[in-house]
Order: sequence, then C-alpha cells, then structure tokens
Amino acid sequence: MLTRLLKCVPGMTLMFVAALIVGLCQKSLAQGDLDLEAPGLESLPTPSKAGATLFQNVRIFDGKTPTLSKSVNVLVTGETIERISSAPIAVDPSTNVRAIAGNGRVLMPGLIDAHWHAFMAATPQMTLMISDPNYLQLLAARQAQATLMRGFTTVRDLGGPVFGLKRAIDEGVIVGPRIYPSGAFISQTSGHGDFRFPFEVPRQLGGPLSHSEIEGIAAIADSPDEVRVRAREQLRAGASQIKLMGGGGVASPYNPIESTQYTEPEIHAAVEAAENWGTYVTVHAYTPRAIRQAVAAGVKCIEHGQLIDEPTAKLLADKGIWWSLQPFLDDQDAPPLANPVSQKKAMTVFAGTDNAYRLAKKYKVKTAFGTDILFDARLTNRQGAILAKVARWCSPAEALKMATADNGQLMALSGFINPYPGKLGVVEEGALADLLLVDGNPLERIDVVADPDKSFLVIMKGGVIYKDILPK
Ligand SMILES: [Zn+2]
Repeated sequence: MLTRLLKCVPGMTLMFVAALIVGLCQKSLAQGDLDLEAPGLESLPTPSKAGATLFQNVRIFDGKTPTLSKSVNVLVTGETIERISSAPIAVDPSTNVRAIAGNGRVLMPGLIDAHWHAFMAATPQMTLMISDPNYLQLLAARQAQATLMRGFTTVRDLGGPVFGLKRAIDEGVIVGPRIYPSGAFISQTSGHGDFRFPFEVPRQLGGPLSHSEIEGIAAIADSPDEVRVRAREQLRAGASQIKLMGGGGVASPYNPIESTQYTEPEIHAAVEAAENWGTYVTVHAYTPRAIRQAVAAGVKCIEHGQLIDEPTAKLLADKGIWWSLQPFLDDQDAPPLANPVSQKKAMTVFAGTDNAYRLAKKYKVKTAFGTDILFDARLTNRQGAILAKVARWCSPAEALKMATADNGQLMALSGFINPYPGKLGVVEEGALADLLLVDGNPLERIDVVADPDKSFLVIMKGGVIYKDILPK
C-alpha cells in the first residue's frame, strides 16, 4: 500500500512517510478490519456484537456489601450493566437479548489480580531466558485465556512485555483478561530487576541493552535522568502505571532482601513522569526503610511489604497509600527456587506475611489483592486458591472485596490514561459488565473461587460471555 501511495503522491518526503508509518502503527484495528474472517473461523467477540443479556433471579455480591442481595434481575447492554431491579425487567423484543436463569445463584464481579505477570507467570525462568520471544508470547496468550477462565477478568501486570498481548485481547484476536500494563519494571544496577547475565556487566554507558531489556522485561536505570527516560519509554508504549524496584527481592541474585534500592530523587523522577501522564508509580519494597523512602518520593502504591513495622503501616494508612499484598506462605504455593540464598530470603518474607495482613487490617490500610505468581504453570492454576487463603486474616467478604471493588479502585488510579475507563470490580448500574455466575455462596464458603472450572458457571467480560456451562 505504501508503494502505491508513494507512486501517486510525487514528492512525498521521507518525513511524511515516517509519520504515516507511525500513524499506521498506532492505529488500532477496528473490528472487521482484520482479514481473519475465513470459513469455519468464529468471528471475534466484541461488546458491540454481544447485544444484551438478562440475568434473572440472581442474588448479588456487589463487591462491597458483606451480604448477598435479595433476588434481583440484572440487564447487561453492550459492555455495561444497565439495570438492576427486583421487579421483572421488560426488554424490547426486537433486540437480541439472551436470558440466563440464575435460579437464585450468586452473581458477583469478575476477579482482579493486582500483581500479575502475564508474560512470566506460567513459563519456567530458564525457558524465558533462552527461548524465541515469539514462542514465549504464544505461551503467554494461552495463559491469558486460562486466566480469564479462572474468573480473573482484569489483571494489573507488574512487569513484562505485554503490550501486544493486551492489544490482541482488547481487539478480540485472542481471549484473556483486561490488562493494566506496566511494561518493563525499572530497576537500578544490582537491584531486584537486574537479571543480567554476568557477561552483560559492566555496562558500557550508551552501550547495547541487555537481553532482559531487549525483551521488555526489565529497564536498568541509574540516576534520576535515566529513570525518567525509562519511565517515559514505558508510558510511550502504553503503560497504565510505572513499576519500580525499591528494595531487595527474593528471586533476584544480586541484592540482599534488606537492601534499599534507588534514592529518593531517582524514585521521584519516575513519580514526576507518571504524574504528568495522570498516573502513578508503584514500588516493590519489603522493609520499612525501603517503603518509607518510596512514600517520601511520592509513590501511590507499595508491592509486598511483608517486613513492614507498625509505624510504617500507620504511615501508609495516614497517607492513603495502597498496599498491594500477597498471601506468601511456606506452603504448597511457595515458588520453585533452586538457589539456597533465594530460599532463605523467601523464608524471611513468608515469616512476615501474617504480621503484614494483621497490620493492614489494624490500621485500615487500603489493601489490594495480588498473587505475583512466577515461572510455574501449576501455580497459575492456584490463582483462585491463593485468593481464598486471604480469608485466614479476614472474612470471606472482606477478602473478596479486596479482589473486586478495592482492586477496581486501584485500577482507576491510572487516571486519564486508564485503558478501561468505567467502573470495575462492582456489580452496580453503569459499571462495566465483568461478571461471574457462581454455583455456591462464596461469602459462606470462599473455597468456591479455588475451583473455577466447577464453580463459575458463567464468565462474562465487557458484556461478552466467554463461558456458559449452565444446564440448558
Ligand atoms: Zn511481581
């Protein structure tokens, strides 16, 4: 097409061609543009094609209220919940309305995982390091579908090359959850995001990027100026928030868990870049010192924080900082770690989890739920089971609220660049229709979310039904 254009517009400058290419690259495919419509191939599911769905006789867990509603009917039109009413809802017989008989079952918001790695969750670390990136993306696409089928209709991705994956899901090319991408996580040299091979260090200033940087997993930056550049690169690619490594981590080989990473001016540089784009920075940090430095630099969310102390938990509450917590424990869901140093670090973190949830509750910190599953397909199948574990420290309703309404609020923190404007994580009129029809009452027995194959009879995202195993 370009050559044709070039022929018919004489004198077209190189600059114009470049601008045209940039324009073409940024253009999203409108439905119907895709040349994929072949005989036997199902057309792409989109909200506009979804028509309307009427859930009849359901009891709602709305994401906030700790009890179920009485029996109601819920009308979904396009991608939103249009009406909720205990009286019968009349629908225009000329429209294409699909009726679903709930028979008193529970309708709840789709689950949200606030700490996910769509590119890395299910694939072993060694495979990630040595395989063809295109192959790895296909594995990630497969896992994205599995994620949605576990009832997770939204994930906040905290590191990895997922912009293409997100676009393909949004366009209906493949099936998966909504993704709030961070792009590459930003790390200092020797920080939690420094997974470089020994031969890639020392870095020559201005020299070639390391393997994990080329892949878009990590961005190594030292100094406020470098952090600013790398943060802006992620925003340019479509990041909805910026993820920074602010302290020691478990799986990374070159930093003690006690280490504080970056300096306040370096973190602040990322905060400025993010805030100018209407969004925020979230920081990986376990210790009080790392958390306090990040808060002083202006971040809006802390990831993990298992080694927190009481005054720092109170600080998070006082400043309204989000705490994205994971129920890391020394149990069957512990990550596979070959390195004994990492194993020891993991035990330190596990020992702090109980205290962290206790303090989050005591000081009423805004708490998000996430799993942070890495490198293990078996563990990804435990995503719902990991959520169910949170009920050790609170009621099932409180745990489910974290993974729905509360996480939905955290997603909205991405401001005017929010890729999915609209209410997420709640069942209410006007909210986005991400819904689960559940067999069993999760407020009484939260374990139902651990068995999505059986428990989630209908899975809807944006008004589109991706699963329906209700007996017909
Ligand atoms: Zn993570």
